[in-house]
Amino acid sequence: MTSKEARERKLKEIQEIAVGWGKIIAQEAFPNGPGLDVTLAEMEELAAAASHGLVQGAVETMTGSQGERFGQEAPCPTCGRMCSLMSASRPMVVRGGNATLNEPVGRCPTCRRDFFSRSGRC
Ligand SMILES: [Zn+2]
Repeated sequence: MTSKEARERKLKEIQEIAVGWGKIIAQEAFPNGPGLDVTLAEMEELAAAASHGLVQGAVETMTGSQGERFGQEAPCPTCGRMCSLMSASRPMVVRGGNATLNEPVGRCPTCRRDFFSRSGRC
């Protein structure tokens, strides 16, 4: 199996799980089923809110876990000096919603600049 096939299989599995969560959201929104007065636009609005929340929760969790892997220090991308990492919150627009990324940020006292250890950019 190629990595592309494995990736597509994983995406399909995740989507099937999310379909099940969509059913849970529908039951949460309308425990007795939607009345005849509920429009399709209202149902879409609920589904979109759930989708945005799902994207936010998933992206923030994954990037947070990834950020923990960087440890306490990282080399400055300009001079190479090892610098302490702090956590900085950065709101972002991502596909399907918004998320606040908590990223490890280094501050190099030699270069007097901050850098994001995730991308190595200043
Ligand atoms: Zn530096």
